[in-house]
Amino acid sequence: MKAHTAYLTFNTPERCAIVHITPKVEAELAKSGIKEGLCLVNAMHITASVFINDNEGGLHQDFLQWVEKLAPYDARGYRHNLTGEDNGDAHLKRTIMGREAVVAVTKGRLDFGPWERIFYGEFDGQRDKRVLVKIIGE
Ligand code: ZN
Repeated sequence: MKAHTAYLTFNTPERCAIVHITPKVEAELAKSGIKEGLCLVNAMHITASVFINDNEGGLHQDFLQWVEKLAPYDARGYRHNLTGEDNGDAHLKRTIMGREAVVAVTKGRLDFGPWERIFYGEFDGQRDKRVLVKIIGE
């Protein structure tokens, strides 16, 4: 069995953003040389997400508005922010949108369903944050 590990870094200019990362994951798969296996992609920070959905800009705006409605930014409105942080909302948004995606690798390609693509969801950005890509197989 082979294994390939990579750490991708993102630093979004906005506090909240959705970034299409499929090409970066495909580049790591190509480097790995793995033809059959599994590809795990996970956010390494508890205020960011990795998820799979449609690469459609209107939907991305819908996601951002939806999580803002469920967990609005409020520097003082969360118990977590009593610690002196202001990102209580971002922890909740991360949990709603998920930590990781796992995609099967078949014949050297990410074996997506129709329209599936991988995204990084940032909810407390403007600083370097990492995403782990781990590919195992043969
Ligand atoms: Zn926090």
